[in-house]
Amino acid sequence: MNQKVVVIGGGTIGTAVAYYISKLGNAEVILIERDAVGSGNTSAAASLITLARSKKAIIPLVKETLRAIEDMEVVLGESSGVMKVGSIHVAASEASEKSILNLIEIADEYDLNCEWLSADGIKEKLPWINVDKVIGGAFMKDDCYMESTVLANNFAKAAKKNDAEIRQYTNVRELLHEGGQITGVKTDEETIPCDIVVDAAGAWSNLLATQVDEPIPMAPVRSIYWITGSRPDLFHPKQPMAIFPDASAYCRPEGEAMLFGIRDKAGNQVNPKDLPQHMHGFHLIKEEEHWDILMNEGEKFQEFFPELAEIGVAHCISGISTYTPDASLTIGNARHMKGFYIATGCSGAGVATAGGFGRAIAEMIYGIPVFTDIAPFHIDRFGPIDPFDTVFRQRCADARSNKKEG
Ligand SMILES: Cc1cc2nc3c(=O)[nH]c(=O)nc-3n(C[C@H](O)[C@H](O)[C@H](O)COP(=O)(O)OP(=O)(O)OC[C@H]3O[C@@H](n4cnc5c(N)ncnc54)[C@H](O)[C@@H]3O)c2cc1C
Repeated sequence: MNQKVVVIGGGTIGTAVAYYISKLGNAEVILIERDAVGSGNTSAAASLITLARSKKAIIPLVKETLRAIEDMEVVLGESSGVMKVGSIHVAASEASEKSILNLIEIADEYDLNCEWLSADGIKEKLPWINVDKVIGGAFMKDDCYMESTVLANNFAKAAKKNDAEIRQYTNVRELLHEGGQITGVKTDEETIPCDIVVDAAGAWSNLLATQVDEPIPMAPVRSIYWITGSRPDLFHPKQPMAIFPDASAYCRPEGEAMLFGIRDKAGNQVNPKDLPQHMHGFHLIKEEEHWDILMNEGEKFQEFFPELAEIGVAHCISGISTYTPDASLTIGNARHMKGFYIATGCSGAGVATAGGFGRAIAEMIYGIPVFTDIAPFHIDRFGPIDPFDTVFRQRCADARSNKKEG
């Protein structure tokens, strides 16, 4: 008899998992999402898809996402709207130059399309940038961005084509198990028997995982970005994205405006038990606080973009990313509970890595050798942890504050 798999969570990660399980074998797949597909923290993502990373184990996962985006364009017969614009890692100090040169070596190792640009070369591609302090930068030509809700919906539509069932507006209340083996899930309406559960419930994952004594080493951490007013003379959608290690900042075009994020030092984390079931109307930042971050921690970014003060900010968007203490991922089987898999803890890269998450989990479930080494993402790598403990959660938040890459 075929195995029955329930995937909980309809963000980019859960939908990718459902897509790959339905594609790579004959398991019966039900994806359960308590709201609409893509409406969780996926809907808040800045959606940069960047390949070159000092955590090399992440790169094959991002490559898989890019492959999946292309495959789904064929399967669904529609454009994904992906913007293949590349990204420029900008060096403005000896330290950032050294780390970017190291990234170029990694890019070569992984066959990524990359070129060193002078300060003038960067200015040519980004007319808004002030290059007074810029030494140069690495142009990663394969990087792109796309609407993250479209990505989640495309994975879900492609999974449905492979006969997966996509059940929206259904809340999973409880995981069922017997003798150390998953046996089903209980929703608000019914009990669904199954052999395997994949927990891809994002910020809420630990509320489910701790029911079966499988705490996941990650915490919900606030992420913020801003969108400037429109300036068609400075920005257009096909401009490269940019990453500024010296300013802990990144940006990409947003129509004829700029979307930019700053990794603030406050490192606000949330206890998953205090989260509402839906993000709509749940504000993680107060009006005056985001101005403080812009004025103080945004100062270095404004050295690259002095016209920000004049152009002004039209929107501030905040949402939750799930960070691990090492700013990485959690993928794989549980420690003890048979039939329980974890796909969360994306550390701000769950759009970029979704395809890799999906493929790795599906291959594990079918007993196929996993296409890449996922040992660095194992749930048990930090030893015993309490994901609700304030000190542990702050470690996760600090990992975000200290992140320099895109
Ligand atoms: C401001 C910001 C900027 C970001 N920028 C980037 C970026 O540039 N690049 C990048 O790669 N990533 C980025 N991210 C991260 C990215 O948004 C996430 O990693 C990605 O969307 C994956 O999210 P997810 O699927 O884990 O979670 P979610 O999208 O939150 O999905 C989890 C889903 O599970 C559902 N759920 C939870 N509990 C239950 C339950 N009991 N029953 C049923 N359903 C349940 C929720 O409703 C939710 O829809 C950013 C995030 C934020 C907040």
